[in-house]
Amino acid sequence: MNFPGFAGNSDLKQYLSEQERKARLFHAYVLAGPPGSGKHTLAKILAAALVCSGGGTRPCGRCENCRKTFGGIHPDVIWCGWGEALLVEQTRAIRGDAFIRPNEAARKVYILEHAQEMSGRAQDVLLKLLEEGPDYASFLLLADNPAALLQTVRSRCEVLTLSPVGSREAEKALRARFPKAGRGELAAAAAACGGILGEAVKLLSGQGGREQPAQIRAQAFLQRLAGRRELALMEFAAGLEKCSREEFLAFLEAAVSLLRENLLRTAGFLPEKGPGEAGGLLSRRELMETISFLGVLRERCQGNVGIGHLSGLLSAGLWEAVFEAKEELI
Ligand SMILES: [Zn+2]
Repeated sequence: MNFPGFAGNSDLKQYLSEQERKARLFHAYVLAGPPGSGKHTLAKILAAALVCSGGGTRPCGRCENCRKTFGGIHPDVIWCGWGEALLVEQTRAIRGDAFIRPNEAARKVYILEHAQEMSGRAQDVLLKLLEEGPDYASFLLLADNPAALLQTVRSRCEVLTLSPVGSREAEKALRARFPKAGRGELAAAAAACGGILGEAVKLLSGQGGREQPAQIRAQAFLQRLAGRRELALMEFAAGLEKCSREEFLAFLEAAVSLLRENLLRTAGFLPEKGPGEAGGLLSRRELMETISFLGVLRERCQGNVGIGHLSGLLSAGLWEAVFEAKEELI
Protein backbone atom coordinates (compact mmCIF):
# COMPACT_ATOMS: atom_id res chain seq x y z
CA MET A 1 0.00 0.00 0.00
CA ASN A 2 1.18 3.53 -0.71
CA PHE A 3 0.93 6.24 1.95
CA PRO A 4 1.48 9.62 0.30
CA GLY A 5 1.90 12.41 2.85
CA PHE A 6 1.36 10.14 5.87
CA ALA A 7 4.43 10.28 8.12
CA GLY A 8 5.63 7.83 10.77
CA ASN A 9 3.35 4.98 11.94
CA SER A 10 5.54 2.29 10.36
CA ASP A 11 3.82 -0.63 12.15
CA LEU A 12 0.41 0.54 11.05
CA LYS A 13 1.65 0.98 7.48
CA GLN A 14 3.13 -2.49 7.43
CA TYR A 15 -0.08 -3.97 8.80
CA LEU A 16 -2.32 -2.21 6.28
CA SER A 17 0.05 -3.04 3.43
CA GLU A 18 -0.25 -6.71 4.30
CA GLN A 19 -4.02 -6.48 4.38
CA GLU A 20 -4.02 -4.68 1.05
CA ARG A 21 -1.68 -7.23 -0.54
CA LYS A 22 -3.96 -10.04 0.53
CA ALA A 23 -6.96 -8.02 -0.70
CA ARG A 24 -8.32 -8.12 2.83
CA LEU A 25 -8.95 -4.49 3.59
CA PHE A 26 -11.67 -4.39 6.19
CA HIS A 27 -15.04 -2.80 5.48
CA ALA A 28 -15.07 -0.67 8.63
CA TYR A 29 -12.22 1.02 10.47
CA VAL A 30 -11.99 3.33 13.43
CA LEU A 31 -9.08 5.73 12.91
CA ALA A 32 -8.10 6.72 16.42
CA GLY A 33 -5.73 9.48 17.51
CA PRO A 34 -5.70 13.02 18.91
CA PRO A 35 -6.51 16.01 16.67
CA GLY A 36 -3.62 16.63 14.30
CA SER A 37 -2.33 13.04 14.37
CA GLY A 38 -3.13 12.35 10.71
CA LYS A 39 -6.59 10.76 10.78
CA HIS A 40 -7.82 12.77 7.79
CA THR A 41 -4.70 12.02 5.77
CA LEU A 42 -4.94 8.30 6.48
CA ALA A 43 -8.70 8.31 5.78
CA LYS A 44 -8.09 9.79 2.35
CA ILE A 45 -5.40 7.21 1.61
CA LEU A 46 -7.56 4.31 2.76
CA ALA A 47 -10.53 5.61 0.80
CA ALA A 48 -8.37 5.92 -2.30
CA ALA A 49 -7.02 2.40 -1.76
CA LEU A 50 -10.59 1.09 -1.52
CA VAL A 51 -11.77 2.71 -4.76
CA CYS A 52 -8.48 2.60 -6.75
CA SER A 53 -8.79 0.95 -10.16
CA GLY A 54 -5.18 1.41 -11.29
CA GLY A 55 -3.85 -2.08 -10.64
CA GLY A 56 -0.59 -2.70 -8.75
CA THR A 57 -0.05 -1.27 -5.30
CA ARG A 58 -2.99 0.76 -4.13
CA PRO A 59 -3.70 3.62 -4.01
CA CYS A 60 -1.88 4.07 -7.34
CA GLY A 61 -2.39 7.85 -7.21
CA ARG A 62 -2.83 7.99 -10.99
CA CYS A 63 -6.18 6.44 -11.86
CA GLU A 64 -9.32 8.55 -12.11
CA ASN A 65 -10.63 7.15 -8.83
CA CYS A 66 -7.44 8.02 -6.95
CA ARG A 67 -7.16 11.49 -8.44
CA LYS A 68 -10.74 12.33 -7.60
CA THR A 69 -10.40 10.94 -4.06
CA PHE A 70 -7.22 12.89 -3.33
CA GLY A 71 -8.82 15.94 -4.92
CA GLY A 72 -11.82 15.56 -2.60
CA ILE A 73 -14.32 15.26 -5.47
CA HIS A 74 -15.01 11.52 -5.80
CA PRO A 75 -18.79 10.96 -5.78
CA ASP A 76 -18.37 7.60 -4.04
CA VAL A 77 -16.09 8.86 -1.26
CA ILE A 78 -18.43 10.70 1.03
CA TRP A 79 -17.19 12.89 3.88
CA CYS A 80 -19.86 13.04 6.56
CA GLY A 81 -19.85 15.51 9.40
CA TRP A 82 -17.60 18.36 8.24
CA GLY A 83 -16.33 19.26 11.66
CA GLU A 84 -19.30 18.10 13.70
CA ALA A 85 -20.64 14.77 14.87
CA LEU A 86 -23.50 13.28 12.90
CA LEU A 87 -27.03 13.56 14.22
CA VAL A 88 -29.52 10.69 14.16
CA GLU A 89 -31.27 12.05 11.05
CA GLN A 90 -27.98 12.44 9.20
CA THR A 91 -26.96 8.92 10.10
CA ARG A 92 -30.31 7.66 8.79
CA ALA A 93 -29.71 9.60 5.57
CA ILE A 94 -26.36 7.86 5.20
CA ARG A 95 -28.07 4.52 5.66
CA GLY A 96 -30.50 5.42 2.88
CA ASP A 97 -27.68 6.57 0.62
CA ALA A 98 -25.59 3.47 1.24
CA PHE A 99 -28.17 1.29 -0.48
CA ILE A 100 -27.82 3.27 -3.70
CA ARG A 101 -25.08 1.61 -5.74
CA PRO A 102 -21.80 3.48 -6.33
CA ASN A 103 -21.60 5.90 -9.26
CA GLU A 104 -18.10 5.43 -10.57
CA ALA A 105 -16.06 3.12 -8.37
CA ALA A 106 -16.69 -0.46 -7.35
CA ARG A 107 -17.13 0.68 -3.74
CA LYS A 108 -18.58 3.49 -1.73
CA VAL A 109 -16.62 4.87 1.22
CA TYR A 110 -18.17 6.90 4.02
CA ILE A 111 -15.82 8.91 6.21
CA LEU A 112 -17.47 9.88 9.50
CA GLU A 113 -15.83 12.72 11.41
CA HIS A 114 -15.95 13.15 15.20
CA ALA A 115 -17.46 9.69 15.54
CA GLN A 116 -16.82 9.71 19.29
CA GLU A 117 -19.31 12.55 19.72
CA MET A 118 -22.21 10.76 18.05
CA SER A 119 -25.15 10.23 20.38
CA GLY A 120 -26.07 6.71 21.46
CA ARG A 121 -29.08 6.74 19.15
CA ALA A 122 -27.04 7.86 16.17
CA GLN A 123 -24.53 5.11 16.91
CA ASP A 124 -27.36 2.57 17.04
CA VAL A 125 -28.37 3.57 13.53
CA LEU A 126 -24.75 3.31 12.46
CA LEU A 127 -24.45 -0.10 14.08
CA LYS A 128 -27.35 -1.44 12.01
CA LEU A 129 -25.66 -0.10 8.90
CA LEU A 130 -22.36 -1.74 9.84
CA GLU A 131 -24.16 -5.02 10.40
CA GLU A 132 -26.56 -5.03 7.50
CA GLY A 133 -25.15 -2.55 4.98
CA PRO A 134 -24.34 -3.55 1.41
CA ASP A 135 -21.03 -5.31 0.72
CA TYR A 136 -19.72 -2.51 -1.43
CA ALA A 137 -19.97 0.09 1.39
CA SER A 138 -16.97 0.86 3.63
CA PHE A 139 -16.92 3.06 6.70
CA LEU A 140 -14.04 5.03 8.19
CA LEU A 141 -14.85 6.42 11.61
CA LEU A 142 -12.52 9.19 12.78
CA ALA A 143 -12.33 9.37 16.56
CA ASP A 144 -10.13 11.36 18.96
CA ASN A 145 -11.19 8.98 21.70
CA PRO A 146 -12.43 5.58 20.48
CA ALA A 147 -13.38 4.55 24.03
CA ALA A 148 -16.35 6.93 23.71
CA LEU A 149 -17.80 4.76 20.93
CA LEU A 150 -20.31 2.07 21.83
CA GLN A 151 -18.60 -1.25 22.36
CA THR A 152 -20.98 -2.79 19.83
CA VAL A 153 -19.88 -0.28 17.18
CA ARG A 154 -16.20 -0.76 17.98
CA SER A 155 -16.50 -4.52 17.77
CA ARG A 156 -17.79 -4.22 14.19
CA CYS A 157 -14.76 -2.20 13.16
CA GLU A 158 -11.06 -2.64 13.16
CA VAL A 159 -9.43 0.02 15.33
CA LEU A 160 -6.31 1.62 13.84
CA THR A 161 -4.48 3.69 16.43
CA LEU A 162 -2.24 6.43 15.10
CA SER A 163 1.05 7.03 16.91
CA PRO A 164 3.04 10.23 17.42
CA VAL A 165 5.68 10.74 14.74
CA GLY A 166 9.37 10.74 15.75
CA SER A 167 11.04 14.15 15.57
CA ARG A 168 13.39 13.23 12.73
CA GLU A 169 10.58 11.91 10.58
CA ALA A 170 8.35 14.82 11.56
CA GLU A 171 11.03 17.23 10.42
CA LYS A 172 11.34 15.43 7.08
CA ALA A 173 7.58 15.55 6.53
CA LEU A 174 7.48 19.24 7.48
CA ARG A 175 10.34 20.06 5.13
CA ALA A 176 8.35 18.55 2.25
CA ARG A 177 5.38 20.65 3.22
CA PHE A 178 7.21 23.88 4.04
CA PRO A 179 10.19 23.92 1.64
CA LYS A 180 10.93 27.58 2.36
CA ALA A 181 11.11 27.28 6.17
CA GLY A 182 14.53 27.41 7.83
CA ARG A 183 16.15 24.28 9.25
CA GLY A 184 16.05 25.57 12.82
CA GLU A 185 12.42 26.57 12.54
CA LEU A 186 11.47 23.13 11.19
CA ALA A 187 13.46 21.36 13.91
CA ALA A 188 11.85 23.52 16.59
CA ALA A 189 8.33 22.92 15.30
CA ALA A 190 9.01 19.19 14.93
CA ALA A 191 10.23 18.98 18.52
CA ALA A 192 7.52 21.23 19.95
CA CYS A 193 4.62 19.31 18.38
CA GLY A 194 5.26 16.20 20.45
CA GLY A 195 4.79 13.97 17.40
CA ILE A 196 1.42 15.47 16.45
CA LEU A 197 2.22 16.79 12.99
CA GLY A 198 -0.98 18.81 12.74
CA GLU A 199 0.26 20.93 15.64
CA ALA A 200 3.57 21.60 13.90
CA VAL A 201 1.73 22.51 10.70
CA LYS A 202 -0.34 25.01 12.69
CA LEU A 203 2.78 26.51 14.25
CA LEU A 204 4.58 26.82 10.91
CA SER A 205 1.63 28.18 9.01
CA GLY A 206 1.04 30.80 11.68
CA GLN A 207 -2.29 29.38 12.87
CA GLY A 208 -0.94 28.51 16.27
CA GLY A 209 -1.77 31.85 17.83
CA ARG A 210 0.87 34.50 18.38
CA GLU A 211 3.76 32.19 19.09
CA GLN A 212 7.01 33.30 17.54
CA PRO A 213 9.90 31.04 16.49
CA ALA A 214 11.75 31.93 19.72
CA GLN A 215 8.86 30.64 21.83
CA ILE A 216 8.54 27.52 19.72
CA ARG A 217 12.25 26.91 20.11
CA ALA A 218 12.07 27.52 23.85
CA GLN A 219 9.26 25.01 24.25
CA ALA A 220 11.11 22.46 22.16
CA PHE A 221 14.21 23.03 24.27
CA LEU A 222 12.31 22.51 27.51
CA GLN A 223 10.74 19.32 26.21
CA ARG A 224 14.11 17.90 25.25
CA LEU A 225 15.56 18.88 28.56
CA ALA A 226 12.69 17.23 30.41
CA GLY A 227 13.16 14.11 28.29
CA ARG A 228 16.69 13.81 29.77
CA ARG A 229 18.23 12.54 26.57
CA GLU A 230 21.61 14.01 25.89
CA LEU A 231 21.44 13.17 22.19
CA ALA A 232 18.11 14.98 21.80
CA LEU A 233 19.64 18.07 23.39
CA MET A 234 22.67 17.87 21.13
CA GLU A 235 20.44 17.64 18.08
CA PHE A 236 18.49 20.64 19.27
CA ALA A 237 21.65 22.66 19.86
CA ALA A 238 22.93 21.75 16.39
CA GLY A 239 19.70 23.15 14.96
CA LEU A 240 20.58 26.55 16.47
CA GLU A 241 23.90 26.86 14.65
CA LYS A 242 22.41 28.70 11.71
CA CYS A 243 20.55 31.25 13.83
CA SER A 244 21.44 34.92 13.65
CA ARG A 245 22.68 36.56 16.87
CA GLU A 246 19.28 38.20 17.37
CA GLU A 247 17.49 34.88 16.94
CA PHE A 248 19.83 33.14 19.34
CA LEU A 249 19.34 35.87 21.94
CA ALA A 250 15.58 35.78 21.46
CA PHE A 251 15.64 32.01 22.01
CA LEU A 252 17.69 32.38 25.20
CA GLU A 253 15.34 35.01 26.55
CA ALA A 254 12.23 33.00 25.70
CA ALA A 255 13.77 29.89 27.27
CA VAL A 256 14.75 31.71 30.47
CA SER A 257 11.30 33.20 30.86
CA LEU A 258 9.68 29.79 30.29
CA LEU A 259 12.02 28.21 32.85
CA ARG A 260 11.28 30.97 35.37
CA GLU A 261 7.58 30.43 34.88
CA ASN A 262 8.09 26.75 35.64
CA LEU A 263 10.18 27.57 38.67
CA LEU A 264 7.37 29.74 40.03
CA ARG A 265 5.00 26.90 39.34
CA THR A 266 7.07 24.35 41.26
CA ALA A 267 7.23 26.81 44.15
CA GLY A 268 3.45 27.09 44.12
CA PHE A 269 3.29 30.73 43.01
CA LEU A 270 1.57 29.87 39.76
CA PRO A 271 -1.22 27.34 39.22
CA GLU A 272 -0.25 23.87 38.00
CA LYS A 273 -0.61 23.20 34.33
CA GLY A 274 -1.62 19.88 32.80
CA PRO A 275 0.39 16.74 33.55
CA GLY A 276 1.97 16.96 30.08
CA GLU A 277 3.77 20.21 30.91
CA ALA A 278 7.45 19.56 30.23
CA GLY A 279 8.76 21.95 32.90
CA GLY A 280 6.93 20.00 35.59
CA LEU A 281 9.21 17.07 34.90
CA LEU A 282 12.28 19.02 35.96
CA SER A 283 13.31 19.55 39.56
CA ARG A 284 13.70 22.99 41.07
CA ARG A 285 17.47 22.58 41.10
CA GLU A 286 17.55 21.52 37.46
CA LEU A 287 15.45 24.51 36.46
CA MET A 288 17.76 26.86 38.38
CA GLU A 289 20.93 25.31 36.95
CA THR A 290 19.55 25.68 33.45
CA ILE A 291 18.57 29.31 34.00
CA SER A 292 22.03 30.11 35.30
CA PHE A 293 23.72 28.28 32.41
CA LEU A 294 21.59 30.12 29.84
CA GLY A 295 22.45 33.39 31.63
CA VAL A 296 26.15 32.75 30.97
CA LEU A 297 25.39 31.98 27.33
CA ARG A 298 23.44 35.20 27.04
CA GLU A 299 26.35 37.24 28.33
CA ARG A 300 28.68 35.62 25.84
CA CYS A 301 26.15 36.08 23.06
CA GLN A 302 25.95 39.79 23.85
CA GLY A 303 29.73 39.83 23.65
CA ASN A 304 31.23 38.67 20.42
CA VAL A 305 31.31 34.90 20.77
CA GLY A 306 30.29 33.09 17.55
CA ILE A 307 26.88 31.42 17.36
CA GLY A 308 28.41 28.10 16.32
CA HIS A 309 30.57 28.18 19.45
CA LEU A 310 27.57 29.07 21.65
CA SER A 311 25.43 26.25 20.30
CA GLY A 312 28.41 23.96 20.87
CA LEU A 313 28.53 25.12 24.50
CA LEU A 314 24.81 24.49 24.84
CA SER A 315 25.29 21.04 23.42
CA ALA A 316 28.26 20.02 25.52
CA GLY A 317 28.12 22.15 28.65
CA LEU A 318 24.47 22.21 29.65
CA TRP A 319 24.08 18.49 30.08
CA GLU A 320 27.10 18.37 32.31
CA ALA A 321 26.05 21.38 34.37
CA VAL A 322 22.48 20.23 34.93
CA PHE A 323 22.48 16.46 34.93
CA GLU A 324 25.99 15.29 35.71
CA ALA A 325 27.00 17.54 38.59
CA LYS A 326 24.19 16.44 40.91
CA GLU A 327 26.26 15.06 43.76
CA GLU A 328 28.50 18.05 44.25
CA LEU A 329 25.67 20.53 43.96
CA ILE A 330 23.13 19.03 46.29
ZN1 LIG B 1 -5.67 4.39 -8.27
